[in-house]
Amino acid sequence: MRTWPAPSLPGLPLTGPPVRVFDTATRQVVETRPEGPARLYVCGITPYDATHLGHAATYVAFDLLHRAWHNAGHEVVYVQNVTDVDDPLLERAARDGVDWRELAERETELFRQDMTALRTLPPHHYVGVVEAIPLVVEEIQLLEQAGATYRLDGDVYYSVTADAGFGEVSSMLRDEMEHLFPQRGGDPERAGKKDPLDALLWRAEREGEPSWPSPFGAGRPGWHIECSAIAMAHLGPGYDVQGGGSDLIFPHHEMSAGHTQATRPGCAFAKAYVHTGMVGYDGEKMSKSLGNLVLVSRLRESGVDPMAIRLALLRGHYREDREWTDDQVTAAADTLAQWREVLTGLTAAPATPTAERVLAALADDLDSPAALAAVQEWVDATLADPAEATDPTAPALMRDLLDAALGLAV
Ligand code: ZN
Repeated sequence: MRTWPAPSLPGLPLTGPPVRVFDTATRQVVETRPEGPARLYVCGITPYDATHLGHAATYVAFDLLHRAWHNAGHEVVYVQNVTDVDDPLLERAARDGVDWRELAERETELFRQDMTALRTLPPHHYVGVVEAIPLVVEEIQLLEQAGATYRLDGDVYYSVTADAGFGEVSSMLRDEMEHLFPQRGGDPERAGKKDPLDALLWRAEREGEPSWPSPFGAGRPGWHIECSAIAMAHLGPGYDVQGGGSDLIFPHHEMSAGHTQATRPGCAFAKAYVHTGMVGYDGEKMSKSLGNLVLVSRLRESGVDPMAIRLALLRGHYREDREWTDDQVTAAADTLAQWREVLTGLTAAPATPTAERVLAALADDLDSPAALAAVQEWVDATLADPAEATDPTAPALMRDLLDAALGLAV
């Protein structure tokens, strides 16, 4: 699938430290140790509605990881999927009387435009599930050969007992899994399942729904196997980071990892599982069902500088749940105006120590609030004593740093 254009990425005269992230599976901050290119998979959108700030916060967070690896001297291979056929998309298309393919392409294009405006580095492989169906079929066949599947009225299910490590990604107790499963696309009540938590791998053709031929009969992929198949095809087992919002920990990331580990004994799906907090608005999690979405495209249409949106998002730590308020973007625009004044000067306070602090903060579990605080201290120092702010190389270094490390073109 076509991705979006890459923003410029300035080279820096200094190298960032090794990158550490909080791994959900082991519940600790771990150092990433890429062998060869750093490999990143981030779960993509189901394109039935426009990008809201919760999505934007997630993709901006993993963009910080991409940049931190780059600035630490690693080549990066980044994969993101698009769930361009699934129940919510088909339901929305039916409700609105539009072709599901047109809806998917329209919303995917809007997402590309939002990501471009926010200066997120594009994935190297941007893969839709429709184009990945042969990969999904192959993965289901591997699961069949491993004895990890069963049929139910033409559908194919994954048996959670096939992966001895089931539960290791989320560390959730069975009660919690059973509570979340139906809320997040699962069907625990379906009669005939061996375990209520077993996940759908292949949904047999239903009347009026799109389907593709397969050795299991005509049908379409389940959600979790889609990411397993795309990640294995483009990254391989044991890749460095699997990423997404914290609402994907269970069942989505647990199942994607389990599907892969059941067919490749001894291989981990990913080395670390990294999750972003939820963004709230009006006291509730921002979600389609609650109708309290703040859309990136709508903010852009109303004339908000996308860099102010990005800066406002970076002011929260990616792992924290946070509340969005409309004044955050106004405050960020004021900050950018102040920074621009300093960055367009001929001289400023020496910037190398600040650049080192910024790179260190971002390598330390993507601590963007600490990185921004270091930048603000440098700005304040320059403004407080212009007579001492005599370094002619500092403004250009800080402009490159803000762009390369934080994705802020100021
Ligand atoms: Zn996924």
